[in-house]
Amino acid sequence: MKGERTLPATEERALRESVIATALAMNAAGINRGKAGNVSARWRDSAFNGFLITPTGVPYRQTAPEQIVAMTLAGETHGALLPSSEWRFHRDIYAARADAQAIVHTHAPFATTLACMHRGIPPFHYMVAVAGGKDIRCADYATFGTQELSDLAVAALAGRRACLLANHGMIAVGASLEKALALAVEVETLAEMYWRALQIGEPVVLTDVEMDVVLEKFRTYGQPQSVAKP
Ligand SMILES: [Zn+2]
Repeated sequence: MKGERTLPATEERALRESVIATALAMNAAGINRGKAGNVSARWRDSAFNGFLITPTGVPYRQTAPEQIVAMTLAGETHGALLPSSEWRFHRDIYAARADAQAIVHTHAPFATTLACMHRGIPPFHYMVAVAGGKDIRCADYATFGTQELSDLAVAALAGRRACLLANHGMIAVGASLEKALALAVEVETLAEMYWRALQIGEPVVLTDVEMDVVLEKFRTYGQPQSVAKP
């Protein structure tokens, strides 16, 4: 459903520009190619409660701020273009997670390779804790754009800020666009290292106790600048 909205305020326009910049940056970082993937940021003002999301079918380089689609949490769209076909999981993640301020979804090559094997990322490296827990789950397969996929993604993200999507890609959630993008880059880096280790054999995974120590250190001592946190 399309509704009437007044022209975006300055602050909203800046956020629309940041959504586009983040989409371009995810491709420049090598974690996504072409028009695959999508990016959104939560947006609220006195008259609106929802998020701003990349439109479907428009190359990021050609996307103008006005073409970013505003969607309410009820799924109403405001804009001339249709939102990304994956708007459902963006909407459902914002509805389920108060900590989610931005979402980056990519078809990053290594993360997607693991996802095609229905393999999540175990604690083979302590930095797996960057996603908020002791592993990064892989959601079961469902057709892109469906409510079923959204439900599976929200479940795989429970207690986490990132997950893989079987035979599809990955999702990273952050307290800002910058943090969501940084997390997506980190997850792809971990996926590449895990994939490389698998070429030699089964990597040694850290124990629950060791991961508890890492999670506590991340919570207590803060994190390096390159690491996303909520
Ligand atoms: Zn996708």
